[in-house]
Amino acid sequence: MKDTLKHQGLRQKLVATIKAKGITDDKVIAAIGKIPRHLFMDSGFLDHAYQDKAFPIAADQTISQPFTVAFQTELLQIKPGDKILEIGTGSGYQTAVLCELGAKVYSIERQNELYKKTSKFLPKLGYRPKKLIFGDGYIGLDEEAPFDGVIVTAGAPFVPKALLGQLKVGGRLVIPVGTDVQTMMLYIRKGPKEFEQHEHGEFRFVPLLEDKN
Ligand code: SAH
Repeated sequence: MKDTLKHQGLRQKLVATIKAKGITDDKVIAAIGKIPRHLFMDSGFLDHAYQDKAFPIAADQTISQPFTVAFQTELLQIKPGDKILEIGTGSGYQTAVLCELGAKVYSIERQNELYKKTSKFLPKLGYRPKKLIFGDGYIGLDEEAPFDGVIVTAGAPFVPKALLGQLKVGGRLVIPVGTDVQTMMLYIRKGPKEFEQHEHGEFRFVPLLEDKN
């Protein structure tokens, strides 16, 4: 597992690209500049690792586009020590970004192959999420709730009620909602039953699958 000067140079270009696309949070930018994204991808794609694009990983899934990762993370407004639930661990790249920001990360993945691979891989890079879970993101993680933030990294056909219910008052849920195209939604919990809702543009994700699929 190598991170060379060439990789570091390409990463700085990627940082310039996401800034040009509108990312402003310095801590998020620093995390993207630090994390060796090429190590999260299968070797055939190494040359592409620092393009601002999504790429295939195992189990027909994708590692999200760096701009999208940065955009979703920025919306969460993480402070060190925040408890964050991620749905869709995938390659672990977004998980690593959350760890870099000092969050206590809980992440759920429904593909056993990815769950196993990423569970082994993240500690090798020095990233230690609180818990990686092989399970169904639609039900969230009640035993660890409430969370300061919940981030969904797959396209959800609807907003799972459980995820809203597991937010602290003041907590934020960032979730792309839709089937073919998704609208990036931000929900902020204002009270036991009050949620503020904001739309943040269109994105394309692989689908958040229900158990039977
Ligand atoms: N954050 C990841 C994104 C991976 S793509 C990365 O950057 O690598 C979305 C991930 O969500 C896939 O790994 C997919 O297997 C997972 N997923 C899909 N439906 C899910 C569900 N119901 N519960 C948990 N994970 C799910």
